[in-house]
Amino acid sequence: MHATKEELAAKADALFEQLKDKTLSPKDRTQIPLQEMPTQDPSVRVTNMQEVALGYTENQVRVEAMRCLQCKNKPCIQGCPVSIDIPAFVAEAAKGNYVKSVEIIKESSLLPSICGRVCPQESQCQKFCTVGKMHKDVDQSVSIGRIERFVADYARENDMEKNPTIKAETGKKVAVVGSGPASISAAADLRREGHSVVMFEALHKAGGVLIYGIPEFRLPKSIVEHELNNLKEMGVELRPNYLVGKTRKITDLMEKDGFDAVFVGSGAGLPKFMGIEGENYIGVFSANEYLTRSNLMKAYAVGQSRTPLYNSHKVAVFGGGNVAMDAARTAKRLGAEEVSIVYRRTEVEMPARKEEVAHAKEEGIIFKYLHAPLKITANDKGRVNGVELITCELGEPDASGRRSPVEIKGSEKVYDYDTVIVAIGNASNPLIKATTDGIEVNRRGNFIVNEETCETSLKGVYAGGDIVLGAATVILAMGQGRKAAKAMNDYLANL
Ligand code: FAD
Ligand code: SF4
Ligand code: SF4
Repeated sequence: MHATKEELAAKADALFEQLKDKTLSPKDRTQIPLQEMPTQDPSVRVTNMQEVALGYTENQVRVEAMRCLQCKNKPCIQGCPVSIDIPAFVAEAAKGNYVKSVEIIKESSLLPSICGRVCPQESQCQKFCTVGKMHKDVDQSVSIGRIERFVADYARENDMEKNPTIKAETGKKVAVVGSGPASISAAADLRREGHSVVMFEALHKAGGVLIYGIPEFRLPKSIVEHELNNLKEMGVELRPNYLVGKTRKITDLMEKDGFDAVFVGSGAGLPKFMGIEGENYIGVFSANEYLTRSNLMKAYAVGQSRTPLYNSHKVAVFGGGNVAMDAARTAKRLGAEEVSIVYRRTEVEMPARKEEVAHAKEEGIIFKYLHAPLKITANDKGRVNGVELITCELGEPDASGRRSPVEIKGSEKVYDYDTVIVAIGNASNPLIKATTDGIEVNRRGNFIVNEETCETSLKGVYAGGDIVLGAATVILAMGQGRKAAKAMNDYLANL
């Protein structure tokens, strides 16, 4: 039975009244029930694009924060890629000091409203939480991400964010390529130092995957736009529709346009395909194209958007990561009657955030575990009409540590589908590499950088985020943007 926002809030109100004046022992704290995140009813949310998770109330966040034991050794911090002082911000949230709480977070992370929503907390900060360990269930950990989301939303919605101080103009010019989380963070830290910063974005809209990839129902675009507006208010100049490598090369930016340094945060936006028969039929999409049509081009707004929507009834999505979940849940919202995730391993090995998998199931997405696609079939007009799958079993662990799928001969079967979405991963875009002499990349095409400084093989050119790490996470991209900016600020100071 789906608990409503009002029911969950009422429970938290009653509990808060009991707890608010009590001195809580660690035992009391471990007995406080986890505060569930209210969500839109699954039957309603599949008919709209609005955010699924509705956010805590003040009493819910305070009760949840009271579950924290304030562990002396702070194990949760080791799970956060940017080492946020989690116990400190959670303690302030428990006291109702939300603005102070978000200020603590912002010492390490610039995008808490975003990371609180999309970080894979169960494999990062919350994985190490003592409360989860005591319950022998990571799902019982203190909901660090939800608390982070609440305090950041609170400060933003109540116009209580602290304006960043910008140092005196240095006269130095920096180009930032791309406008995803790595670039946003680098641009903010470079501008604070007083440098003039121009952000070049290939698409007509800035924000990277946060805008074109992750759907509105998981990350409202108004939050990303708010962060971009903050950058503009700080004086960062944003140039959309500017493809670095084509419009201008990196070397031109430095040698002809007077930029003293460049940060490359061009991401990993090149979709991978499987190389199986039929991938060119009509009705086969890369997840990137599918999600971009919906998120960026608003294809779902039929009659208002000029981007056409493919009319799907039965959709197969290949893959088991966040991208696959986003594509499947988007297909459902765009009107498909049946959507299946086809994944070669089992749920245990699936890399998607646990919450997304749970939400996808609630929305009626079918999970075909231990199945691998062999070929896509089509009718005489070249339109997809089926997919041949083979059943797998789990074998020995591979290089990733996950047990690898082994195909069971003779188990091939053709299933009816009219749409296929391939979501098996993304590689880095080769354009900048191809147009920049002397830039070193690894065999996957990712930029090779100095681990401490994020400097590439070219002097004054730094890089971070997915272009370095391969398809990774928002928080890792943000962390790299900040690390690079720190080194760039030192470099520029000595120019
Ligand atoms: P990006 O966000 O990819 O931004 C790169 C930007 O550079 C793009 O806007 C691109 O247009 C621009 N660009 C590229 N080349 C050029 C050029 N030559 N000139 C100018 N501009 C250029 N991570 C999570 O932590 N949690 C999640 O739930 C999650 N879900 C995801 C869902 C989807 C569908 C996808 C695709 C990814 C998801 N990720 C998630 C991964 C995460 O979004 C990325 O790791 C992160 O966005 C990488 O940030 P970035 O700044 O390196 O690059
Ligand atoms: Fe956890 Fe992500 Fe916040 Fe770090 S940034 S504390 S990993 S939710
Ligand atoms: Fe609080 Fe968990 Fe961190 Fe301990 S590990 S300080 S209980 S969030």
